[in-house]
Amino acid sequence: MSIQKNLANIQQSIPHHVTLVAVSKTKPVSDLLEAYRAGQRIFGENKIQEMTQKWEEMPKDIQWHMIGHVQRNKVKYMAEYVALVHGVDSLKLLKEIDKQAKKYDRTIPCLLQVHIAEEDTKFGFDREELLLLIENPEFLGLKNVRVKGLMGMATFTNDQDQVRREFKTIKQLYAVINTKISTVDTLSIGMSGDYHIAIEEGSTMVRIGSSIFGARN
Ligand SMILES: *Cc1c(COP(=O)(O)O)cnc(C)c1O
Repeated sequence: MSIQKNLANIQQSIPHHVTLVAVSKTKPVSDLLEAYRAGQRIFGENKIQEMTQKWEEMPKDIQWHMIGHVQRNKVKYMAEYVALVHGVDSLKLLKEIDKQAKKYDRTIPCLLQVHIAEEDTKFGFDREELLLLIENPEFLGLKNVRVKGLMGMATFTNDQDQVRREFKTIKQLYAVINTKISTVDTLSIGMSGDYHIAIEEGSTMVRIGSSIFGARN
């Protein structure tokens, strides 16, 4: 099926209040342009260099989301344009994003990544760390980052009950920070294999790659 048809099918299967991030990592600009021509304006990448190259080549009304693990020494390359950083997993990283955002006189929207998978390969805060962070005066003093919500990745498994459990965990945390931080409105959970469950559990933003662009090499 074509990228255009895939996009239309997915848009049809998700509610209006859920934002679709088209995850275009490893895909050529020609594929992204096909999605762009079909109306897609939000793209997700997991490597800063690749995202920056695509930002330079693509139309300027695109919102670029950094969905991967962020190395602090590379924040400077995306600070000018990035629309949302999903994978913020430390105060140190948040401070670097704040510092680089200041140089462009910007406030960069960020999501705090929460570790929800039972497997331990994924990055992110656990519950306790997150609750400590949001009371930390250093965190509260940052002016050039805006925390918009949480991001999480469920375990890569066929066990749907486990995936649902993990999404319920992050949804509960989301409810907590939603009452404490006024700018919070985004819960980024759900990928090609699990976005239906994620939406049932309260996702407001899904990150979908292979179901739009086909399998990656
Ligand atoms: C690659 C990736 C996705 C998209 O995965 P698909 O299974 O291709 O939909 C979503 N989120 C993150 C963080 C990713 O790295």
